[in-house]
Order: sequence, then structure tokens, then C-alpha cells
Amino acid sequence: MNVLNPPLFEALTREFGEVRVTDQGAAMIARHVRYPGGQVRLEVGSAGEYYRVCCAFCNDTRFRLWINHRWGVPDPKTGSRHRWAAICYNENCLAREENRVELIRRVSWYDRTAGAGRVKILPGRVTEPGTPKPLPRDFLRLSELDKGHPARGYVRSRGFVPDLISQRWGVGYSEAGPFPGAGIGRLVIPIHRVTEDGARVWGWQARRLNENEHLPKYFTAPGLQKTAFLYGAERITDGTGPVVVCEGPIDVWRFERDAVALLGNHISDSQVRLLCRLATGRPLVVALDGEARDEAEVVVTRLRRARESSILRPDPSPVLLMPFPAGRDPADCSHEELKRRMRRLLQTT
Ligand SMILES: [Zn+2]
Repeated sequence: MNVLNPPLFEALTREFGEVRVTDQGAAMIARHVRYPGGQVRLEVGSAGEYYRVCCAFCNDTRFRLWINHRWGVPDPKTGSRHRWAAICYNENCLAREENRVELIRRVSWYDRTAGAGRVKILPGRVTEPGTPKPLPRDFLRLSELDKGHPARGYVRSRGFVPDLISQRWGVGYSEAGPFPGAGIGRLVIPIHRVTEDGARVWGWQARRLNENEHLPKYFTAPGLQKTAFLYGAERITDGTGPVVVCEGPIDVWRFERDAVALLGNHISDSQVRLLCRLATGRPLVVALDGEARDEAEVVVTRLRRARESSILRPDPSPVLLMPFPAGRDPADCSHEELKRRMRRLLQTT
């Protein structure tokens, strides 16, 4: 497996068995900041690739001990060894010093090698918005297609009015793509980038129009770092009500506004930061697909920690989980049902 810190990955595999990788290939993005007193500190914007093992301290069986690819490797300027970047998302086991010491002991050969400066981190890719990726050349909005077009038919089959989805979300169709290896003729869903200056289309995802399992369900614009975006961020209103975090664009359509999609069931550091900024002071409701219950709990914990530990603006607003049974997701519910669930969830807290 291509990872950024092979010696750490190997040491963990030897000690813990199976190791899963999250944000594979994503570099740590950090800068050195000189404080008034002359002290230099490393400010981490995005932690990048993590290795996940079953936490030995709480008998976890669901890969909830996360260890960053830089863990144990000294920073050249500050000497910091990123010990903060190992965390148990089950019972926060590494908050206890004896567990931190034990983890280091279990990978002691790796730790000594890294401490001596002999572990080289591979460069990795930088997750950032990059340059905008234009919509396919033959893109047409749903409202510009014939009434009987399969793209309109697909949207209708999911319980939406095509012209409304076209107008509200800018959704359309492309025959030619580029969708290399992903078949032709897809629903094209624009993704916006939201900054202080407003929102503009920055890329897209394209969904297949049928349930042909041989073709990927979603295809992302080539070169777009989807983990740097929150789908639907442009329709977060100025209100004080909850903001929902889902997996896919179609879930977001169901909520109509104040909902974003992670474009997957993991949340990247950039998405955490973006959410903390766009939803300051508002409840966050995590509503991933029913199958992704473990992943949903990790998303909740990461958002809570980020809100609590923010030095610039700590945010005490709640982060709640809206569970779905396996096989169901927000897109399967009616808008009214989601409103009802949301009201109940907020009342019980
Ligand atoms: Zn644990």
C-alpha cells in the first residue's frame, strides 16, 4: 500500500494487525508561526493521512484509534513530535499518560528511528481548493432538456421536481464528460466554493443514471480535491437554526437548505474547519447513511473537539447525531419527515 510513512504503517501492522488508512496520500498542511517572545510554534491547518487500528486500551473492534502519519517524527524547526495526533475516538484512551507511554513502547523500534531523524515522510498531495474545474463542455441544465430526458426521469424517480433542482442547485446533464472509464451520460452536480467574497462553481460530481453496478456511482471532476469542499455550503442561510451534515448531494436536496454533504462518510480537516466557520454558533446535526453509524460517531466527535478546542472562537453549540436504520439515508425520507426528526432531536437536548 502506498502510504506517506511506510515505517510507521509497518510497525502498526506488526503490532495491531489490520491497519486502515484515511485521507490516504494527503500531506499535513502546517506553517511555523513566531510568537511575541520569539518562540516558534507549528500551526496545523490540516493533519492529512491517518492510520486507524483497533484500540488495544478499550478493546475496540472498529478501528477507532487514529494515528497520524507524522506521529513520532520530529518537526525540523520546533522538534515537536506530533504526539497530539494520535487519538482514540472510542473512549479517548490516549488522554491517559500511561496509555500514551504504552503506545510508544509497542512501536519502540519505529519510535527510536523516527526520533533519530531517520524516518522520511513522502511528500503527499496538498488538499486545497486548487483551480476551478469547468463544467463539461456539453453541459445542459435539467430545465434545458426535453421533458422525457433520462436525466430528468432519474431526478423525478428520486422524488424531486427536475426544474426546481435545476434552478436551485444548478444541476444538469452531460453526455460526453470527461468521465474516463465511468461510462457516458451522467447527471452533473456543480460544487461551489464559498469564501468571504461569495460562492462560485468550482467543480462537479457526476452521478450515473441507473443502478448498473459495473459503473462507479459518482465520478468527480478530474483534479478536484473533493475533501476541500462542502457540497451545498452556498445555501447555508444567515439563520441560527441547525446545519445538517450528510453524505451525498441528494440528501442535501431533501433538506433544501442549511445542509451540506461531505461527498463521502469521512470528514477531512478542511471540511471540519469550513463547517466551524460557516455554522458558528449553530447546532450541527450529523445525518450520514444508516450503514455508516461508526463513521457518523467519528464525525460527531471530531466536530465537537474542533469546536471546543478552537483558540480563536471556542463554540459551545451542540453537535448531534441523527441516526438512520441500516439501508436508509436522508434522501429516502420526505422533507416533512426530516423536519419532524430534527425537531424531536433538538427538543431532547
Ligand atoms: Zn480506546
